[in-house]
Amino acid sequence: MKVELENLTKIFPSRNKKSQEVVVAVDNFTFSIPDGKLVGLLGPSGCGKSTTLYMISGLQKPTSGKIYFGDDDVTELTPEHRGVGLVFQNYALYPHMTVKQNILFPLQNLKGEDKLTKDEMLERAYNAAKLVQIDDLMDRKPNELSGGQQQRVAIARALVKMPRVLLLDEPLSNLDARLRLQTREEIRRIQRETQITTVFVTHDQEEAMSISDIIVVMKTGVVQQIGKPQEVYDNPINLFVAKFLGTPPINVFSGRVEGGMLYIGDDAVLPARGIDDREVTVGIRPEGFVLSEDGPLHCKLSSVEVMGRDVSIVSGHDASLNPVIRSIIDADCKLDPTAECVRFALKPHKVFIFDKETEERILPEE
Ligand code: ADP
Ligand code: MG
Repeated sequence: MKVELENLTKIFPSRNKKSQEVVVAVDNFTFSIPDGKLVGLLGPSGCGKSTTLYMISGLQKPTSGKIYFGDDDVTELTPEHRGVGLVFQNYALYPHMTVKQNILFPLQNLKGEDKLTKDEMLERAYNAAKLVQIDDLMDRKPNELSGGQQQRVAIARALVKMPRVLLLDEPLSNLDARLRLQTREEIRRIQRETQITTVFVTHDQEEAMSISDIIVVMKTGVVQQIGKPQEVYDNPINLFVAKFLGTPPINVFSGRVEGGMLYIGDDAVLPARGIDDREVTVGIRPEGFVLSEDGPLHCKLSSVEVMGRDVSIVSGHDASLNPVIRSIIDADCKLDPTAECVRFALKPHKVFIFDKETEERILPEE
């Protein structure tokens, strides 16, 4: 099922009654989610992810704009009539019911044509339970399950009605680190198997990058960039997106372009042909540094951390806008950890230049 959002906007009145100010939670969001894909909606807390999801589900009405499922305009439809499955951060299972009863629950209120026999309901419930691998836990109560198992029950309950669209709002946030990884692989597998168009909301960039076919990066209600995870990582449209994706995060410097050369402090680090002379902000991915005895970027060495395959070098530079510079280099590279200075060459495709004021990416004119 293709899902289309057309100029979707949600404005909330201010929570403070006396104030005239409103909150634009989602600002003119237009996007077509291709059929069968998993889209990761990513951004910091408060950027409008949940509000977007609730509008797709029908739990909240847009202030303006339209939502289509396939060719159907569903903007005015209630959640029950949209055919969506919803999973939240807190699993919201009925505590007094068994796993089986919890999964059956959405099927028991179906009316008219959709009404199912008892056997049909059981078959559906077991199929959904098998898909999330909890079919041997059907007679337990939620408090007899781990967090990960409870979340699987919640996913089974969302799947049992065979939704046209699956909507997940930070579904892994309550799980510990190991379960989070495992459950995220599960969700990916289930989504691939069922081919249900899925929107997955998270503030965790690594989670979104690893699970999504497409990511949408949001900031204060406004979509910043949409694309395949790797494409967005390799080609951030602005400093916000560059900073939001990647661990360790991108290193940011103040710099300038002068005579076709990019400078960081006094260091002429790379050619920057096609960009006029100006002050800029420079982002360098941690993997963009190469140890080099005559490298142009001179940094003060703080520490060297060996992490198996890679070495993490912590250093400093007067033009750095972060307290430290973190670079990741190959463990084979030899560096004297007691040295005072470390010199780097830079990989051009790992260096991004941004407008100092607007923070938009500057690309060279052809
Ligand atoms: P996210 O899920 O990305 O953390 P939300 O969609 O929950 O963000 O919220 C987006 C913005 O809308 C926030 O500023 C939030 O405070 C505001 N907001 C959300 N729900 C309401 C509401 N019911 N009334 C007023 N403001 C709201
Ligand atoms: Mg939220």
